[in-house]
Formats: sequence, C-alpha cells, structure tokens
Amino acid sequence: MQFSLVVLPGDGIGPEVIAEGIKALQAVGKRFGHDFNLNYGLVGGVAIDEMGVALSQDTLKMCQGSDAVLLGAVGGPKWDDPKVKVRPEDGLLALRKKLRLFANLRPVKVFPVLVDGTNLKPEVIKGVDFIFVRELTGGLYFARPRRQWQTPRGRRATDTMTYSEQEIERIVRVGFELARGRRKKLVSVDKANVLESSRLWRQVAMEVGEEYPDVELEHMFVDACSMRLIQNPAYFDVVVTGNMFGDILSDEASMLAGSMGMLPSASLAGVPREGASIFGLYEPIHGSAPRRAGLNMANPVAIILSVAMMLRYSFGLAKEAQRVESAIDEVLREGYRTYDIMSQGKTKVGTKEMGDLITKKVAGS
Ligand code: NAD
Repeated sequence: MQFSLVVLPGDGIGPEVIAEGIKALQAVGKRFGHDFNLNYGLVGGVAIDEMGVALSQDTLKMCQGSDAVLLGAVGGPKWDDPKVKVRPEDGLLALRKKLRLFANLRPVKVFPVLVDGTNLKPEVIKGVDFIFVRELTGGLYFARPRRQWQTPRGRRATDTMTYSEQEIERIVRVGFELARGRRKKLVSVDKANVLESSRLWRQVAMEVGEEYPDVELEHMFVDACSMRLIQNPAYFDVVVTGNMFGDILSDEASMLAGSMGMLPSASLAGVPREGASIFGLYEPIHGSAPRRAGLNMANPVAIILSVAMMLRYSFGLAKEAQRVESAIDEVLREGYRTYDIMSQGKTKVGTKEMGDLITKKVAGS
C-alpha cells in the first residue's frame, strides 16, 4: 500500500530521534511491502530562523494534503526571549488548530523490564498499561471571554470553561472506541460536584455510553483521579477528560514510565474506529532537550512508538504497529538502554545504536 507522510523534525534532539523513527518506518515498508512517501518540512525554531514564522502556509498545506504528520520536537534557549513575537510553540498550536486535531492520545505503558526504573515501587508500577485521551481544542484553554483588565480596586482576569455537547460527544466517543478494543473500561474524569461544564460532560458521557453497553463507564472526580494515578495506576484502561484536566493529569501519568524518552502521543482529527484510517499528528511527549542535542544521547523509543501509533491509527496497519512495539520490547529485554533508562548491568547505547537495534528487529534480520 502507499501512504504519504509529512516529516517535521523541528529543533534540538528532534532531528536525531526523527531519523531513527524513519529508519524503523522504512524497515516496516520493506518487510510488509508498503511504500511511504516522505515530504520534509520546517517547524518551530528552525522555521523561525529560516522564514520568520514557526509554521509556513506551504508546510501547513503539505500537511493538509498528507495521510499523517510525524513531528520531532520544537523549542530551545535560542528562541526563549519572552519579548519575541514569534515562538516555536506557535507552530505546534497552529498545526493542532488548522488540522482540527481534537483528540490527544497518550498511551502510558510500563515495559516489564523497566519496572525498577521509576520513582514508584515496582509492585505499584507493574502491569501499568493505559491510554489517556485529552480533549485538545476546546475548554478552558480556548473558550472566550479571556482577558485581564484594570478596576478601581486593582487588576482582574478571567478565563472561560465552556464545552458544547458536540465537543464532549466526539471526545468521549474516542474513549469508548479505544476501550472497546482493549479491556473495556472507560474512566471519564470531571469535576461535576462543582462545575456546570463538568455536569454537562457527565450527562453526555452517560448518553454516549448507552451506545456502548459492552464498555464499563466510570465517572471520577479530577482530584480523586490524580490520587489514583499514583496509588494504583494499573487500575486504569482508558481515561477521557477535558483540555485542562488532561494537560495536568497526562503529565502526572507520564512520570509512571520513568523517562520522557519512552512515551509517544497521537493527536487525531477523528474517532478511531476498527478498520478506519484517521488523519493524525504523531510526536513524542518530550521536548527538544537542548542540552542533549547533537550528542547521540536521546532515547528514540518515544518517536518509534509514535511511528507505531501512526501505522495503527492513520494507516490502518495494526499488524505492522505490533511488530514495531514488539521490536522495542525485544531490544529492551536484551538489556540495551539509552542513558535515561540505564541501570546496573545493562548495555548503554546511543540514539543511533538504539535505532539500529530496533530497526533490525523490525526488519526481522
Ligand atoms: P524536555 O522534554 O525537552 O526535557 C525534559 C528532561 O527530559 C530533560 O532532562 C531532557 O534531557 C530529558 N529528555 C527529554 N527527551 C528525552 C529523550 N528522548 N531521551 C532522553 N532524555 C530526554 O523539556 P524541557 O527541558 O522542559 O524543554 C526543552 C525545550 O523543549 C523548551 O524549549 C520547551 O519549550 C520545549 N518543549 C517542546 C515540546 C514539544 O515540542 N512538543 C514539549 C515540551 C517542551
């Protein structure tokens, strides 16, 4: 089969890890007989340096005409001056908005061989394997009014938390569909004891739930969820929530895996149903790690897992995605580690070596 893909390496370690992701993808193409047509573009700091904008119209058009986008990371000290008008992150926000990427998926899976490598006790971490679904284009971060103003008694500021039933329905549906293909347990997170928007969220979740009698739906308050994520993270299968709650909780959840270098993400423009191919943007959850850039140190597992997500959701290639995930598992089992997940008695490798080892397993050689 043929697929077209836009590759946006970005800044810092972005280009280094992207190179390993593409290597693994090409190995999939060779082994399973697929043709991936790659078009490279600029985003973030490199785009600002080259064109004065964090995302050009041409790059955006290229993304709109493709089946999926693979992104490295953006940002770095060079573009950090708070007085500048254009920031590398503007490129990411523009992509999410213009490509209508409303569903952010972050799988949190602790590889069995890495249970000793996190800040939590191994018995708590063992078996952790869930997906976090965050609404990405609505809620408190986007709704209006939002402003700051002067009053006779000092300054005031306001933000607005608004959700329409359509926005809630489509994101909750993403949660149900994912749960249906997994352990059939969906936790919907809200603050319905306080917030009106959360009460609507809960009602709509229950209404959509009637279409999914095979999936168990549980409602959880956001504060309770933040505790449960640390106390018993293996409890979760699929978690769905709004933009701000998701922003905070998904970062908390990412700590369970031990390193930012291990976690992928997908931002989708539709509901992932069995057999459907959905446009999406795939990227590791980590940033550009400027201090590690150019040193062949960064862990490429997060981007390679992002490639696996792309194969599954945008290309409909579940078997190929599984091969990539198994390849990573096998390499970790053999004891190879990048610096961030290194432990005693294991073999330390760099970005390229880790990418090569995984690619070899993908290729079956
Ligand atoms: P970061 O994710 O870049 O780094 C956090 C820590 O994790 C650092 O110690 C880093 O060395 C380590 N790390 C990150 N990725 C790693 C990998 N693949 N392998 C091994 N170690 C890894 O976050 P930060 O330091 O807060 O931000 C650095 C820059 O990245 C900033 O400019 C920030 O704005 C930007 N950023 C971009 C994104 C994105 O592109 N989506 C996300 C977060 C931060």
